[in-house]
Amino acid sequence: MERLAKGIHDLGAMVSPDPISLLKRMNGGDVGGVLLVACSELGMYPLSAHLPFVDALATIQNMGGMLSLEDVAGSDLASIKLLLKGGELTDMVICGHAPCSALNLLVFPEEWLVGELSSCAYTDAWLRSHREFQKVLQRHYGNAPKGTLMDVADREFVLHQLEELSLIPELKALVVRGGLRLHGWSINASGLHVYSAARQEFVQVEGLMAAEHPRLRNRTARARNARA
Ligand SMILES: [Zn+2]
Repeated sequence: MERLAKGIHDLGAMVSPDPISLLKRMNGGDVGGVLLVACSELGMYPLSAHLPFVDALATIQNMGGMLSLEDVAGSDLASIKLLLKGGELTDMVICGHAPCSALNLLVFPEEWLVGELSSCAYTDAWLRSHREFQKVLQRHYGNAPKGTLMDVADREFVLHQLEELSLIPELKALVVRGGLRLHGWSINASGLHVYSAARQEFVQVEGLMAAEHPRLRNRTARARNARA
């Protein structure tokens, strides 16, 4: 997996220092207070392989898993504020996935911005609102092999959204006070990864939890036996 370029984001204390404790809690069936943000095409099945109670989560799900953070009625920020007001939000998870059709429009426009997609309102708005993100990809990963570009874009998009969240003063203050924890996840062909602020990288969950999670432990053992 292509390593993320350093120095793009300044997430520091804004991201939960202990992403594994949330996974352990969710594995135990406690998903209260967790809001998952994900792309519609991800569905829930890939996550359910790691988190058996994921279907009970509060969720914002749309194409690209993009949060609308304008301070207006009907935006995702309004929903987040409502959950906070009700005392029902302690952890927000931005979960990206690769390959992602919405990200394909940004990463491989020459292939995907064709036919109907080249002139529809959704793609226009999506591209317009992510020009800066697109430039970040070009600037830092212009030489990345095409095969790894989608995985990089997915992880960068998760971090980009976490950064956008941390720019909202009300949310930033809450995170600093410890009233809200932000998490970055990414799921691809090799499984679920969580963002480690200490490592400034996404780390595969199997490697972190295999010893404690029966389902993952069994899968790890099967893989080991298959290799033997
Ligand atoms: Zn997607």
